[in-house]
Amino acid sequence: MKKIQMVDLKGQYTKIKEEVDSSVLEVLDSTAYINGPRVHEFQKNLETYLGVKHVIPCANGTDALQIAMMGLGLKPGDEVITADFTFAATVEVIALLQLTPVLVDVDPVTFNIDVEAIKNAITPKTKAIVPVHLFGMCANMEAIMQIAKEHNLYVIEDNAQAIGSNYTYSNGKKAKAGTIGHVASTSFFPSKNLGCYGDGGAIFTNDDDLAHTIRGIVNHGMYERYHHDVVGVNSRLDSVQAAILDIKLKRLDDYNTARRKAARAYNHAFAGQDQIVIPTGRDVCSGICDTCDCHVFHQYTLRILNGKRDELVKHLNENGIPCGVYYPIPLHRQKAYLDERYNERDFSVTNQLVKEVISLPMHTELDAEQIEFITSTVINFVNS
Ligand SMILES: *Cc1c(COP(=O)(O)O)cnc(C)c1O
Repeated sequence: MKKIQMVDLKGQYTKIKEEVDSSVLEVLDSTAYINGPRVHEFQKNLETYLGVKHVIPCANGTDALQIAMMGLGLKPGDEVITADFTFAATVEVIALLQLTPVLVDVDPVTFNIDVEAIKNAITPKTKAIVPVHLFGMCANMEAIMQIAKEHNLYVIEDNAQAIGSNYTYSNGKKAKAGTIGHVASTSFFPSKNLGCYGDGGAIFTNDDDLAHTIRGIVNHGMYERYHHDVVGVNSRLDSVQAAILDIKLKRLDDYNTARRKAARAYNHAFAGQDQIVIPTGRDVCSGICDTCDCHVFHQYTLRILNGKRDELVKHLNENGIPCGVYYPIPLHRQKAYLDERYNERDFSVTNQLVKEVISLPMHTELDAEQIEFITSTVINFVNS
């Protein structure tokens, strides 16, 4: 059996090595390292793939979130509602801009931001909602957009984990993750579903004016050379990364299909295990049927109900199976983001999930033998 990896970047690279190597060498030869034609080509191709009017590449997914918030003109003191159960980048940029993060609980089935909790957290100071499409599946965007409309709020989708996923509306209509809110951010960190070989990120929007504002912000607030109209940042995707991303974008649907295939095999093996909760989709969609493309499984995350999650992590590691706990501490209990207004009672789901979740190896190169070994090791341990 091949050695099991949490993410197999080498196996994936080996299959596209010739194309990547020659493309990278072309960029080196061109010397157009920053804002070269490859960045523009990738931007156009990603706009077409997503069906969105504007993609603005930038340096990483954290910058993308920050720049999206700057572009919307959010001001210190404005409240921004986001999920308690996510990677810290989301709340970090809210705090950095001196906006007030308002963390709320998540849904125990989808792990995504809880719609009722959003409603309860809205105050006259609320200006925006940041749903995070956690682990590869969209938050309940239809309900979130409705709330935003009623309360005149912006919606910023943190799409770092769900690129390529399709959101299905209750009437069956579909839209790509990251094209539904007013603006969205994504990350091209190597282990993401569309990852480059360094850091990278992008902002998406259908709003022409916002796109214009953001194009200036990423480039020192310049709209005309050496005229600095607003305070900006320096956040760029380089041409080498763009060349690599363009090659991988053509394969993104295949990569996501491979992830779903692995997830289906996992789910099949774990079905009927009463101490294990397998990931499922929202009510309109199981997330894992053959034709469905709403979940792109950035992570394959189980809940272990018998209190043996930490022992399972140890057992898997001892058996050569890498795994992860995303995320072990709720954001509302992180030192940097403590807020006396929070009440533990409002975070019952997140507080439970941090004790139960475990993410198994998930990438495009998993094979049947590896999945059989992983699933039988988990099942034997959980029932021991
Ligand atoms: C990875 C990630 C980010 C940050 O992306 P970077 O490119 O690492 O800055 C933000 N939000 C979520 C949910 C992520 O998973």
